[in-house]
Parts: sequence; structure tokens; C-alpha cells
Amino acid sequence: MLTGRSPSTSSDDRARPDVAVVGAGPIGLAVAWRCAARGLRVVVHDPASGSGASAVAAGMLSPVAEAYFGERQLTALLLASAALWPTFAAELTEATGAELGYRTDGTLMVGLTGDDLAEARRLWAYQQELGLPVTPLRPTELRDHEPALAPRVRGGALAPTDHQVDPRLLVPALRTAARRAGAVLVPQPVRHLSEVDARVTVVAAGCGAAALTGLPVRPVKGQILRLRAPGGVAPGFRHVIRGYADGEPVYLVPRADGEVVLGATVEERSDTTVTAGAVQRLLRAGVDLLPELAEYDLVEAVAGLRPGTPDNAPILGPLPGRPDVLAATGHHRHGIVLTPVTADLIAGLVTTGVPDPLLAPFRPDRFDSDAPASVGAAGSGAPAGADRPDSTMEEDRWS
Ligand SMILES: Cc1cc2nc3c(=O)[nH]c(=O)nc-3n(C[C@H](O)[C@H](O)[C@H](O)COP(=O)(O)OP(=O)(O)OC[C@H]3O[C@@H](n4cnc5c(N)ncnc54)[C@H](O)[C@@H]3O)c2cc1C
Repeated sequence: MLTGRSPSTSSDDRARPDVAVVGAGPIGLAVAWRCAARGLRVVVHDPASGSGASAVAAGMLSPVAEAYFGERQLTALLLASAALWPTFAAELTEATGAELGYRTDGTLMVGLTGDDLAEARRLWAYQQELGLPVTPLRPTELRDHEPALAPRVRGGALAPTDHQVDPRLLVPALRTAARRAGAVLVPQPVRHLSEVDARVTVVAAGCGAAALTGLPVRPVKGQILRLRAPGGVAPGFRHVIRGYADGEPVYLVPRADGEVVLGATVEERSDTTVTAGAVQRLLRAGVDLLPELAEYDLVEAVAGLRPGTPDNAPILGPLPGRPDVLAATGHHRHGIVLTPVTADLIAGLVTTGVPDPLLAPFRPDRFDSDAPASVGAAGSGAPAGADRPDSTMEEDRWS
């Protein structure tokens, strides 16, 4: 498609960007960085870079703990992206000097009650069937890993390769890297794709992609809390902890600076109000798993909107009938972990015009009724909607 600088010689074409990216969240910025680093002229449009879902996201990089029934192709993409994270983080730090809060302490998955543990074990068994590194731990082993866990916690498992990054550090770093590579950021919204003049347009506008493209991206609300260990010390635990507490799914993400992210609800709503009931449920579940949280400062309660799709998988590639417009959206609960692979796949598609085979299950036309069945679902290969959690189970998922 595009290889380095434009071969055109007219002055109009010399002024025209090779790539216009709509949306400067983690996905748009990473695409812009990778494209600019390949020598392309890149313009990024966003009136409020980093104000989307990434502004509240926890930043778990959890392809193993988030390997759910019926989502094999999504799991494969998550694993591919997680494998890129160490190099991606190193390159980003090298390019910017920025600290990203990238931590490789692993993730502990726990169940508070016998019922919670039974529920969690079904999932661990599935993850082990896929060959993923999940090691069940006896209660004593669990406490050896995290002595701060409540004595009531019945059991757990270690996912040593599931890590974390701080999205509030990641996005500014990506903005700096994109700019240093030559991308130009324009602080204006794009209301219609006809406003954009570039050889290729990449729509990476999160939930804003639906209005621009007609793609089935819908907001999925997540309420999330931030706590802080008193006295400016690091939290009393170092793993990401994900668990069920009396049926309530919850996760706890400890940062080196004392912050703990406690999340999150998964709601089919498009408002960003914070409700007392959600705060109460999250706090109760968090404190049940880690009693010391009761002594922490509660510093923030916010809600954000995940860009959800009918099959929970991202939408990546050309719009039907528009080879010049590429979608990079619909990352739902996984946009932070999927940032490196999305950036490489989309930049590769922009520069070569040849889609990587990894992109096939995530094509935008998979939702068309006349699309081939083999690309119909990014999950199991079954039609979208089959083998999918119903809304009740969706509530039961970690987010
Ligand atoms: C509570 C919560 C917790 C989460 N936790 C995790 C996690 O632990 N791990 C993980 O991997 N993911 C997590 N996510 C999901 C993750 O935040 C998203 O998948 C990710 O932010 C998607 O990135 P994005 O760049 O596509 O969209 P966003 O981050 O939403 O950014 C979209 C950008 O597009 C801009 N924009 C929108 N419309 C337009 C327009 N018309 N013109 C120009 N610009 C526009 C917006 O201003 C914004 O800057 C979480 C999300 C939530 C809500």
C-alpha cells in the first residue's frame, strides 16, 4: 500500500499526509508511532488525547487470566500481543525516557469462598487445557506468595506471565514517541470521514468509531476505584490479584507508588456516573480479599466506556468497500494489552497492503450477514452470538 515517502511529485500530494489517524488513545498513538517510524507522514486527530477508556483503565496485561471459554482466536491475539510487550515497553522507554509502570510480578487468581473457588477452577482447567501457564496453589503456597491475602481466601492459582502497565503513563509516552517520530497531532475532532484528507485513514477512535464508520462498537461502562496506601509506601502486595469474592468478580492492581486500582463493573450502559452501589460492591469485595485495603485512602471513583463489539474481539482492517479506511477499534476490555500487536499489524497493513494472517478473524466485514462463515466469529469460529456469555455471565467476568 504505502512504502515510505510518497512517490508522487505534485505539490498537493507532497502536502497530503500518508496516514491520518482518528483518535489519540493508546491504539491510535501506537499506530501513529509505528507508521511514522516507518517513514510515513502521519497526522493524528483528537481533541482530547487520552481521555477515552485508557484514562481509567487498570492496565492489566492478562492474556492468560482472560482466556475465556469460546474466545480462542481472541486469546491467540492477546498472547501474541503480550509476547510483544517486553520489547514494546523497552523501545518506548528508549524513545522517550518515560517510566511506564510496566511490572512483571505476575498475577494471582483467587477464590474467597468454596463456591468462588469452584467457579474459578472451571476457568483454570480450561486455561490449562489450552496449555497456558496456570499453576494451582494450595492455601499455604498462596499465602507464601501474598501474605496480605485474607485468611478466608480458599485457594488460588498463579499466572506468572500476566503483567501490568500504567495506562496513565503509557499514553503520554506514546504521544511523545509519535511526535518524536514525526507524527503531527491536531487537537480537533473528526465528525465525518470526508473531512480527512490522507492516502490512508485509520479509525482508532474507541467508542467514537461507531458514528464514523457504522461498525458495531458500543460503550460498555466500567466503574473503577483508586486507593492509596497510607504514608506514601508501596502496597502490601506485589502481584495483580484477580478473584471472586462471594460471587463478585474483582481485581486489584498494585502500583509501585502506593496506588491500588480496584475494579471494575461491566455494564451495558453509556453514562459515566459513579453509583454508590457499585462503589460499595467493589470495596467490599476488595477488602474481603485484602483486609489491609480498609486502611487505604480512597482517592478516586470514576467510570469509563470500553469500546465493545458483538463478539468481544477488536475490529481490525479495511472497511467493506473502503480499502483506504482501516478500522483499529473495538478493543473492549483488552485495548492496553492489545496495543503492541494492533500497532504492528495496522502499520504493516498500511505499508505493505498485505494483511497478516493474524488479522483474518478480526476483519470488519465479519459482522456482515453475507460474510463467509469462517470469519464470522473471532471467538470459537461459531456464528457471533453462539457460545457467548449471556448478559448475566458477562457481569460475572473480570474486566
Ligand atoms: C474500567 C476499565 C478498565 C479497563 N482495564 C483494562 C485492562 O486492565 N487492560 C486492558 O488491556 N484494557 C483495559 N481496559 C480497556 C481499554 O481501556 C480500552 O480497550 C482501550 O483504552 C482502547 O483504546 P483506544 O485507543 O481504542 O480507545 P480509547 O482509549 O477510548 O481512546 C479513544 C480516543 O479517540 C478519541 N476520539 C473519539 N472520537 C473521536 C473523533 N470523532 N475524532 C477524533 N478523536 C476521537 C477520544 O478522544 C480518545 O482519545 C479497561 C477499560 C475500562 C473502562
